[in-house]
Formats: sequence, structure tokens, C-alpha cells
Amino acid sequence: THTAPTSTTPFPSLSNGVPVDPPVPRLQLIDDSKHFNDELLSYINQYSSPDDRSGLNYHIVSVFGSQSTGKSTLLNRLFGTSFDVMDEHKRQQTTKGIWFSHANYIASNVDPSGSHPNDKHIFVLDVEGVDGHEKADDKDFERKSALFALASTEILIINIWEHQVGLYQGANMELLKTVMEVNLSLFHSTEKRQKCLLLFVVRDFTGITPLDNLEDNLRADLNRIWDELNKPEGCENDELASYFDLAFSAIAHKHFQEETFELDIKKLGDEFYEDVELFKPEYHRGIPIDAWAIYSRQIWEQIELNKDLDLPTQQILVARFRCDEISNQAYGKFYDSFNEVDFGSIEEAEEVASIMKRLRNDALEEYDSQASRYQAGVCEERRRILQKKVDDKLGEVQGSKLDELSKLLTGDFSETVTTNKRQNKEKSFGEVLVDITRSFVDRFKKEASIYCISEDFNFDRPLEVFEESLNKSGEQLKSKEQDILISRSTKRFQAKLKDRSIDILSSPSENSWDELLKVFHKLEHSFLDRYKVAGGYDLKLGLDEKSNEDAIVEIRKSFWIKFKEIIHDFMTEDTASRILRNSFEDGFKYDEEGLPNIWRNVTEVDQQFTKARGVALSLLPILSVAKLSSTGEEIIPDIDIAHEDEDDPYFDDTDADEETNRHYFGHLLTASQQNNILHRLKKEIDAIYVDAKRSVIANRTA
Ligand code: GDP
Ligand code: MG
Repeated sequence: THTAPTSTTPFPSLSNGVPVDPPVPRLQLIDDSKHFNDELLSYINQYSSPDDRSGLNYHIVSVFGSQSTGKSTLLNRLFGTSFDVMDEHKRQQTTKGIWFSHANYIASNVDPSGSHPNDKHIFVLDVEGVDGHEKADDKDFERKSALFALASTEILIINIWEHQVGLYQGANMELLKTVMEVNLSLFHSTEKRQKCLLLFVVRDFTGITPLDNLEDNLRADLNRIWDELNKPEGCENDELASYFDLAFSAIAHKHFQEETFELDIKKLGDEFYEDVELFKPEYHRGIPIDAWAIYSRQIWEQIELNKDLDLPTQQILVARFRCDEISNQAYGKFYDSFNEVDFGSIEEAEEVASIMKRLRNDALEEYDSQASRYQAGVCEERRRILQKKVDDKLGEVQGSKLDELSKLLTGDFSETVTTNKRQNKEKSFGEVLVDITRSFVDRFKKEASIYCISEDFNFDRPLEVFEESLNKSGEQLKSKEQDILISRSTKRFQAKLKDRSIDILSSPSENSWDELLKVFHKLEHSFLDRYKVAGGYDLKLGLDEKSNEDAIVEIRKSFWIKFKEIIHDFMTEDTASRILRNSFEDGFKYDEEGLPNIWRNVTEVDQQFTKARGVALSLLPILSVAKLSSTGEEIIPDIDIAHEDEDDPYFDDTDADEETNRHYFGHLLTASQQNNILHRLKKEIDAIYVDAKRSVIANRTA
């Protein structure tokens, strides 16, 4: 038995003992078990022409007719194909199925070489296996192949013996009925209607009956069949002519009129070659050739599943499939080119942007050049997806470039602010900070906008991040500047207050603390007044109202702490003892005018001693606790300073409430320190007293 080639095979057989040259490969598109051949696409690709930008420069011709009516013989002569022909001697059937082949040439009578080149890219479908008998399986296959041929074919050749014309009966009529029914089911709704040409080829034409008469007979038969057809709703009154164009041709007997047979076929070939004669643009299904494989496969699958064939839907599916493929291909190329560029090594933003633009345009152009041939809506939609993908990838470059820029500028920022502040003495730190921040943001925006190569790009988020990092570094600068301001003013404050405190406390009096507190407030205000503005303070660091307030509180706190340190440091046991002794000595040894006392008797010594001692002792409470004479109350800071001061010997964490902590401010000498001081004073003044007394007695006895 005959073994069917399952895929592309060069025609192996001999023709009259002479090898067919060149062998033309053909493809069994659908085999006898109704499988669709996977190699169709690669078969078609062999014939794809790079000049055909539209992909529409091709034609599909099919042949239909009873078994063994010389269909394959005709196609092979007409188009130089190599379809199987039934062996004359063995009368063996050829393989059932649908065969597909690119035409090798188009036979010609006018061309001296005997053929035209197949520059119209005619592809031929040879439908085998219809023998017109009433077998169910054959009927099914006949119907399916008719559907398949009509969904894709521009010209359908109907092969018919001359002696069967006019016999309105049998296999021929069944066949024509099937073709018409199937065509109606495909194209009955007007929007989908697509015409094709039925080319009747009358075989074994004798010429006894003129072709015109045969044509009339055939037309009459066709109309009769058409009228008797059950037509779908809405097209009951449709004319045959709105679905089919008709053409007629005759070919002489292959064996009895061999020369005429050849000539008739060549003449038919010329008709195929002349555009105006047979192929009309309206017959073309409009599927670009690169999609024909997927289109025909889908059609066949729908037919096999006995689904309604909705060709426009199929065309959209094909468009989607192909546009996706084209998009992936364009993206793949883009991706490779993208990876070839070392963006990191290119510093000029303009150069980077122009490469980005080029890659983007190339990708979209690549897509457009292929995909624009497909349904516009689908093409547009897939284009947007591709564009988004491309933009996302290019966005990575923009992202990393802006990241770099952000890091670079942020790194320069504090240095620039500091230098600028140094050079611009008349501007406050706050003003400089605002100016530099603005100029850095402008620089960022300017460069970032270069990378925006289309309106789909923006740099909102990177800008936000950049501004955040500038703000962060600005805040750090501010707080550093604030620390400097606080420590510098505290130092200046401390120096002034310390001098005055030592002055006042070294020669204490009842009003000493009133006086010292006044000095403190005066210094404090002379500082604060410099920063006073309507409704509060402004340290000119670019701080907001609340931060200014907090900073002022901190400064005042540090002033108070300094105050406390000064008086506590100063008032040691030694210092207090020295002050008391000095006071005693002044009061004992000198009179009111400041002249040394000359003792005349012991009583005078005693009196003077008691007085001076009294004065000295009265100073101890003043030195021990900072109390105001005006109110009799201790000095208490008007701000909580406790936590800054934890190494204070008086500070006791366990029961330290704010009030007691503040209280310790003025407690300079403890009770035991005061006792020690009294002790020492007593010893020292007793010695002075004894000396004085001794000298009086000595003077008197002398
Ligand atoms: P197909 O089944 O329709 O494809 O027919 P084939 O091309 O295989 O041919 C079937 C037989 O008919 C072969 O033996 C051919 O030699 C013979 N044949 C081919 N063309 C003609 C023709 O024009 N007239 C006659 N009488 N026989 C032909
Ligand atoms: Mg055949």
C-alpha cells in the first residue's frame, strides 16, 4: 500500500523515467487522520520575500472535485507542483488529505519559456479523497475540507468532466451543494461576506458543444441548487452572485489530444498571471503571510471541533497571537541592544538620553513595521504593552542615573552650605540653607528632565527621595549649627557671669544675691533680645517656630546650669572660710575709715573682736544658701534644669521631683560644711585675738 509522507518531502518519483527537476517540496497539510501539520510555518518561511512589507503579496488557490478527475495532474502542469497522481496502470488511490505547495511556476503560452515565474507567490491546496460516494466519513471530510478551503482560498477550481455537465444529478451536484452551503455558513452575515471565484475547469473537452453552451448549462444548474438551498434567516433572497464570481475554462483530453491539452493548460496559466483576469483584491483574506500558518491551524481546529467558524474573530485571535510574537521579538532585540550598552560608563546625561531614545524608537519601529499589518485595535493595544515594557526597562537606567546624581549632590550639600555661609557673612545660616537647597533641587530637576525621553517618563519619585535626603542633611546641619550657637553663647555668658559672681560673692553683703540675679537676667536678656521677633524668637537657623522655642528653652537652661556651676564651684569650704576670715580681719584690724586699729586696752580688743566676729558670722548664711534679701526666698531657676545635672552631689535620683531638684540650685554649703567653716573660723580668729591681746599686754608692761 501507499505510505503517506508525513511532512515536507521532495517529490521522489520519476516522470517518464526522467527525474523531476527541480524537485518541488510539498506538504501534507492535513493527513488522513485529520491532523494539522506543524511544519507549515517553516514551509511558508522558505518562500517569504523580504520585499513584501505588507505580507499580503501571496495567493491561495484550491482545487475541489471528485476523485480521479485529473485534479493533481492539472495542478502539477499548471503550477509546477509535485502532488501525487494516480498511477495509470495500477489505478491506485492517492493519499487522502489536504496537500499544500508553493507554485514552482505558472504555465504560459505567451512566455517563450513556457512559464511565468511565480512572483505572485501562489500557494496551492490540493484536496484529495472526495470520491462522491455516500460514505459518512467521506461526507464529513468533504464538508470539512470545503470549509477549510473556502475560509482561506481566493480561487476555488472545480474540476468537472465535460460529459457530466448538464446532468443535474450525482456526485457533482452534491459537491457544489456542499460548497455553497458551507460558504453561506461562513459568510452569510453581510459584514463578514467575502467573495471567492469558482473557476470551473471542464475536462476532456471535445469542442463539439461550445464552451459557452456548457457554461449556460452550469450556470443554470448552479442557480437551481442555490434556489433549493435552505438559506439562513435574512439572506433568503440573496443572489448567488453576491457570494461567488464564476469563471469557466476547458481543457482537452489528456491522451487523445495531448498537444491541445498542454496548450489549454498554458492558456489557463496566462489567465492566472494576468491580474485583471482572475485574482481580484476582494478575494484576498487579508491575513499577512507570516500569520497564515497560525490562521489556517486555528480554522482547522475550529472545524475539527465542529465549532461555528467566525472568521473576524479568528482574524482578531491571529492578530493577537502575531502581535504578541512580533512584540516579543522586538523586545528581545531591544533587550539585547540594551544590554550591549554600558550605561554606567557614560557620564553625559544627553548622551544617555539619546541612546535611550534610539533603543526605544528602534523597538517601536521594529514592532510597527510588522504589526501594523494586523487589526488596528489589537496592534495598538499590544504596542502600548510593548512600550510600557520598554519604558520600564529604560526607566531602570533613569533610576540608577538619578540615584547616582542624588548621592553626588547630597554628598556635596553640607560642604556647599558651610562654604557658602562662610563666604556670605551678611546672610543668616537659615537663608543660606534655603538658597542652597533650592539651587540643588534645580540642578537635580534639570538633569532629571533630560532622561524623560517621552511623556510617559517622569521623575516625581526620585525627586521626592532626593528632597528627603537633602532635608535630612539640612536638619543635621541645622542641629549642628544650633549646638555651636548654644555652646558659643553659653561660653560667652559663662565668662561674663563668672567674673561678676566672684566680685559680688567675694565681698558678700545682704543684697549680694539680689544683685547677682539681676546680673544674670541682664546677661540673659542681652542674649535673647538679639533673636527676638514678633511673637517669639528666631535663631536664624531656618528652624520652625516650635524648634526655635525649644532651642531658646535649651539655651536658657544651659545659662541656668552655668549659673549653678559657677556659684557651686566657687563656694567651697576654703573659699567660704577665706571670705569669713577676711571679713573678720577687716572688721577687727581696721576701723571704719580703713585705718589699722591701735589697741589701748583689752576691753577695746574684746569689743572689736565681738563686733567683727558678729559681722563675719552673719555672712555664713548668705554664702550657704542663695537667698534674696528682698523676699527672703531662695533663688529657684524658672526652668527645670535637673536632668542635665545628674552628677550634682545634691541630686538624688530616687526622690527627685522637679521642685526639690530646682531647690538644690541655691544650696551651696551643707550643714556639716558650715560647721567645719565655723570651726576653722573660730580657730583662726581666736589666734588673731590672742595675738592682739598679747600685744596690748606687752605694750602696757613695757
Ligand atoms: P485526481 O484524483 O483528481 O487528483 O486525479 P489524478 O490527477 O490523480 O489523475 C487520475 C487519473 O486520471 C490518472 O491516471 C491520470 O493520468 C488521468 N488523467 C489526468 N488528467 C486527465 C485528463 O485530462 N483526462 C483523462 N481522461 N484522464 C486524465
Ligand atoms: Mg489528486
